[in-house]
Amino acid sequence: MVAEYNPQEIEKKWQQKWAEDKLYEVTEDKSRPKFFDLTMFPYTSGDLHIGHWYAMAPADVHARFKRMQGYNVLHPMGFDAFGLPAENAAIKHGIHPFKWTMQNVENMRRQLKSIGAIYDWSREVVTCLPDYYKWTQWFFLKLYEADLAYRGKAPVNWCPRCQTVLANEQVVNEGFCERCGAAVTRRDLAQWFFRITKYADELMEYRDIDWPERIKLMQKNWVGKSQGTEISFALEHPGVAEKEIRVFTTRPDTTFGVTFMVLAPEHPLVAVLTSPDKKAEVENYITQSRRRSEIERLSVEKEKDGVFIGTYVINRLNGEKVPIWIADYVLLSYGTGAVMGVPAHDERDFAFAKKYNLPIPVVIAPPGWQEEELEEAYTEPGTMVNSAQFNGLPNEQGIDAVSDFLEEKGWGKRTVSYKIRDWLISRQRYWGAPIPMIYCEKCGIVPVPEKDLPVLLPEDAEFRPTGESPLKYHEQFVNTTCPCCSAPAKRETDTMDTFMCSNWYFLRYTSPGCDNAPFDPEKLKYWLPVDLYTGGAEHAVMHLLYARFFAKAIRDMGLVDFDEPFTRLFNQGTIIVEKQKMSKSRGNVITPDEYVAEVGADTVRAYLMFVAPWEQGGEWNDSGISGVSRWLNRVWNLVLTDYSQNKNANPDDRKKAERELSRITHQTIKKVTEDLEKIHLNTMISTLMELTNYLAKAKEKGTVTPSDWEESIDILLRLLAPTTPHLAEELWQRTGREYSIHNQSWPHWDEALVKEEEITLVVQVNGKLRDRITAPVSITETEARELVLERERVKPYIAGKQLSNIIYVPGRLINIVVK
Ligand SMILES: [Zn+2]
Ligand SMILES: [Zn+2]
Repeated sequence: MVAEYNPQEIEKKWQQKWAEDKLYEVTEDKSRPKFFDLTMFPYTSGDLHIGHWYAMAPADVHARFKRMQGYNVLHPMGFDAFGLPAENAAIKHGIHPFKWTMQNVENMRRQLKSIGAIYDWSREVVTCLPDYYKWTQWFFLKLYEADLAYRGKAPVNWCPRCQTVLANEQVVNEGFCERCGAAVTRRDLAQWFFRITKYADELMEYRDIDWPERIKLMQKNWVGKSQGTEISFALEHPGVAEKEIRVFTTRPDTTFGVTFMVLAPEHPLVAVLTSPDKKAEVENYITQSRRRSEIERLSVEKEKDGVFIGTYVINRLNGEKVPIWIADYVLLSYGTGAVMGVPAHDERDFAFAKKYNLPIPVVIAPPGWQEEELEEAYTEPGTMVNSAQFNGLPNEQGIDAVSDFLEEKGWGKRTVSYKIRDWLISRQRYWGAPIPMIYCEKCGIVPVPEKDLPVLLPEDAEFRPTGESPLKYHEQFVNTTCPCCSAPAKRETDTMDTFMCSNWYFLRYTSPGCDNAPFDPEKLKYWLPVDLYTGGAEHAVMHLLYARFFAKAIRDMGLVDFDEPFTRLFNQGTIIVEKQKMSKSRGNVITPDEYVAEVGADTVRAYLMFVAPWEQGGEWNDSGISGVSRWLNRVWNLVLTDYSQNKNANPDDRKKAERELSRITHQTIKKVTEDLEKIHLNTMISTLMELTNYLAKAKEKGTVTPSDWEESIDILLRLLAPTTPHLAEELWQRTGREYSIHNQSWPHWDEALVKEEEITLVVQVNGKLRDRITAPVSITETEARELVLERERVKPYIAGKQLSNIIYVPGRLINIVVK
């Protein structure tokens, strides 16, 4: 009898031993190829739930696999520790955010260690510690020097009665002050921006990187580049200096169909252009729209409304007067803050014109159009009509023809427009890296000198949110002296968006102790760029876009020499429970600790990979995890019980059995290796299960020699090592092999051994030859039947007919009889 598999005991033992031996500490070993296998670092929210494990455990499996393949693998771990959730949780629990965060770090570090991953903890990064955020601030200064950080105005929530800025959380019931109930308005406040728009074009390129198409598409849509024409409409209004209003359109071919223009309610011309009789109505509308968030304003569900302001512009192409409206679906910050309304050929404009009874002249005729009124906007290709000299042109040609004409006349120019706007990074909150800037009455904006970094976040500030920066009320923090003229000056009191902290954390992993720079350039050069980045797709247009922008910005400063930080990106799916996302409020959060205590970390790891394709995610299921636990118990017994050879087997049978054993073992190596490269982890696990089953049968028969048997066990253990590192190590040791299995090389397969002996099957339908198929010699009758019915060449002969019989002559022929 072998001892029982006791995961709790062996897992603790090996974790301790690996740590003592510093087995996973890595250096810049130039003799081996490097592999930077990065997983998104967790937010310090408290407990690690199974969703974290779902991100971390498969990533570790991949990293361990690359390591056994001979790569020098960096697979580090850290904590994203600044930000609103920690601050809110701290407020709720009545403790300081720093204390709350560091307690969480400690707890999560303990939980992360129970995964049994190859994290080199000497490289841990925690973004809220001064030795880290000093460099976050340093990068801010670099961006400022490069004119990529600037101060501009952006709207914040403002309560006119309390005379204060409000945080989003303090705005309740869709637009009212939490404290006094007054209607909240929007007010512009000077804040810091990063000029991400400067890289808009490059952010839409993905040269030499392997990223999921849908993430690329999401980023491209976010950047929102469109080619079009800016058209000038003539403005003649007494006392107004502007002589035109410009609009951007991708459809200059429809310009003859313009029947209204819409300005954003905040457009500076609205005040001067509104006619006296419309003043009250217009002001009322502006007040209302100030209460709406941008998301509400752009929502497709919301019915578009607006107000005519009583004045006109002239469409230069046909000389017609075009009434000016305001509507809050137009934003001042997009394009020119003005759009032309072409109701016949735009769905939104059509609905707007119907609502307000504006004319809907057709200028692009649908095929066969008989001058009838349109029932809905026509947005497909057609022929230009009611468009003077352009009549009769196909509208696709009209786009160029009208643009040429406008450019000739000086009434417009071709241009490119983007949806993306500069990144607002100021936060009126406490728990973040202070923005290292000083305001001096004489010198203006003065950056904190590098030698004075970090600008420490004072621990004794009142951090409850007011919408204003808590640091504003911390006199020791605010009051300083100007680095230029030594006069009394004031510090910036906003903190940075935490996405600035996560822009560069992976660079810090290469040299976490570096104290004279954010990273050691030599070490960075060795490790970067990241070879594989795994994490959730929810970061597509935030972290993943910001980090690409940041990398390009510091490349242009000469700090790094790559264009893209993440060569390959892989997004895992989500673990759900009873068809629902896990959440505290639903009470369906799965805590890994209980399962680790019950079935062991290796079982949880293997189960998470087995449950579904990693990129899709799947449903957590207790009976599924028991199945995996039973499998690992079978592996345990299979490896540790003695092998006894059946000495009576005849030599031919032995030869055949040995050939089969080596074929199946090598097929498994190939499949497992390819699955790991492709990150198809669920099929990798089922392949390993199949091998286990096969070996169990082979053991029962005892036909093969003990040395062949041992070789297959050796390979099985090495293939298991990334998935179940503790179990594999224990079995490796118990079978007298040399410590550590994790320093062994990954097994290679022999292509000649992988090949199954194959046969050719003739396929007939009603006795007539229709196809030939190549199949493994081991094919069963059931498999052969299924295979032929799916053949493209066979399908036409059996489609719609009744199958009456299938005759199978093993190894030679299959005849389908249909009526
Ligand atoms: Zn108020
Ligand atoms: Zn000064």
